[in-house]
Amino acid sequence: MDTLIRKEFETSANFAHKLDSEDPLARFRQRFYIPEGTIYMDGNSLGLLSKDSESSVFQTLNEWKGLGIKGWLEAKHPWFYLAEKLGATCAKLVGAKPEEVVATGTTTVNIHSLLNTFYQPSGKRKKILADELDFPSDIYALKSVLKLRGLNPGENLILVPSEDGRVLDENRIVEFMDERVALVFLPSVLYRSGQLLNMQYLTEKAHNRGISIGFDCSHSVGVVQHYFDKWDVDFALWCSYKYLNGGPGGTAFLYMNEKHFDREPALAGWFGYVKEKQFDMSLNFEHSRNAGGWQISSPAILSSSPIAGALKIILEAGIEAIRKKSLRMTSYLMYLVDELLSEQPYNFTIGTPREAERRGGHVAVEHKEAVRISEVLRARDVIPDYRPPNIIRTAPIPLYNTYYEVWKFVQHLREILDRKEYEKLPKERKMIS
Ligand SMILES: *Cc1c(COP(=O)(O)O)cnc(C)c1O
Repeated sequence: MDTLIRKEFETSANFAHKLDSEDPLARFRQRFYIPEGTIYMDGNSLGLLSKDSESSVFQTLNEWKGLGIKGWLEAKHPWFYLAEKLGATCAKLVGAKPEEVVATGTTTVNIHSLLNTFYQPSGKRKKILADELDFPSDIYALKSVLKLRGLNPGENLILVPSEDGRVLDENRIVEFMDERVALVFLPSVLYRSGQLLNMQYLTEKAHNRGISIGFDCSHSVGVVQHYFDKWDVDFALWCSYKYLNGGPGGTAFLYMNEKHFDREPALAGWFGYVKEKQFDMSLNFEHSRNAGGWQISSPAILSSSPIAGALKIILEAGIEAIRKKSLRMTSYLMYLVDELLSEQPYNFTIGTPREAERRGGHVAVEHKEAVRISEVLRARDVIPDYRPPNIIRTAPIPLYNTYYEVWKFVQHLREILDRKEYEKLPKERKMIS
């Protein structure tokens, strides 16, 4: 353990309270609905509902009630422009121009749409480069992109291996960027270990080799700063229901670098049409020369509405302050695990990189009994999530968690082990964890 971190923190409950009393973001907790009696550490899977989101949903329901179809143009935020409006707002969070981001579709649909747009195999350049620690849905999409072109994924999808099953070495990824690679698609943060990849470095290296590169930032937008324009990333996409608190299965986002606005959207649909002419109902597709061109269907207004309230809070708090607190909370959590739970008989380990610039918003707390320990935590109304093989994924969320909850969380783990509570449970796991 880093001696600086050792000096920064103490293990007492009082110290946790002290951290809370000095927390500049503490006031935001009251804007959220925290499930009663619960320590909720799962905001990296499903962020909680805020009062702001609730009121933006009620507003939409009232507009539908009172305006019917007129809501498309007469709602406070006219539905016809909502996708672009939310995109422009979210652009501030990711270092993009307003017209480079749009709220549309869902994460995996956007992966299909953007990969098919950018995957242009030619001559020897046929392969797609991803990694073996990627989220399964991303890999399924990558394979189906290849199969649709009649190509064998076994030959044409290269998955960069991980040495330890936790993290990836950026230099190793770069070594795979050779003249056979047409496209690189990587996550910003690995969903299990929480490693944050250096997107700027990877983008620069890919471009030096004439390769396009895009990122799935589902696990980083809302908790980490992004500078897509400065980094010159070709495209990116992310969900809204994790750190953005936009609601279960809500509308996702995509970023299209403006230099690609003239590219042909691979999955065309009428909401990608040039806005002013969409209702001319021409049969010849002409896409908007902005991220909006990559919309397919009518925007899902009801699952986009909560995002308006959610983004308002994040912008008010400021992404720099959010990131700062997130790092402090995760450092504190790792410190407590190291100090209190790393030795016999506890034997917990940390699977997340220690360096601040190499981690996202969650910590992989590892234990060989992680499945059953997670179940006991849930029974105690403590909610992290479990990811195979041995990870208790724990995300203290800067906007609504407290340092005291982090402290309590560690006490729960200690008690569960002291009492061997998990031994009473069967070994198989539940369907959704
Ligand atoms: C959360 C997440 C998804 C989820 O995909 P959906 O299409 O929204 O269900 C996909 N990829 C990554 C990397 C994620 O973190």
